Amino acid sequence: MSDNPIQMSERRRWLRVAVTGGAALVLGGGFMLPRLLVAGTDSGRAGSIRTTRGEVLLEVFSDDGSDLGPRRLPRLVLSDEEWRRRLSPAAFDILRRGGTERAFSGSHERPAVRGIYRCMGCATALFDDAAQFDSGTGWPSFWQPIAKLNVIEREDNSLGMLRTEVRCARCEGHLGHVFDDGPRPTGLRYCMNSLALRFVARTRG
Ligand SMILES: [Zn+2]
Repeated sequence: MSDNPIQMSERRRWLRVAVTGGAALVLGGGFMLPRLLVAGTDSGRAGSIRTTRGEVLLEVFSDDGSDLGPRRLPRLVLSDEEWRRRLSPAAFDILRRGGTERAFSGSHERPAVRGIYRCMGCATALFDDAAQFDSGTGWPSFWQPIAKLNVIEREDNSLGMLRTEVRCARCEGHLGHVFDDGPRPTGLRYCMNSLALRFVARTRG
């Protein structure tokens, strides 16, 4: 670790936001950001925006948790009306409005069987129970996403706090936040809303 890892980490994140924000403004999104930008996030967290022409590069997983490799898939962009038809009111509030469910209200804090978690909005694989731990917070917690490609991280200054928001890379639904107080090996705590996730029990026989 460097002499001041937290400050270093903060600086890297701010730099990333500044650069991606500028690129989006200038180029309107139809642009693949240089790999260097993603490679610069050396803390084990996800990179930034990786889309081009309405597509996003995702790591695809089968329901038994097998990694089927990266694929370029169309982003899922729906109107609020379409999202309301697809999601429960509570899930809409979280995924599309950045809401947070009450602690200990969700069903995914500790799964009874092995499995993976998919996005409630678009079914993208997001977390594996192998990286889940009991944080005691009342929200499902993970020390890493199932694939860095599948989540987007953004600075969130709401509620008078500086936090890092985590979103689904395909539908950009809000999932939760990531903090620096997680367990080994990453030291990260992805604090997710149960209602943003759909648990799929492993089908491996
Ligand atoms: Zn999604």
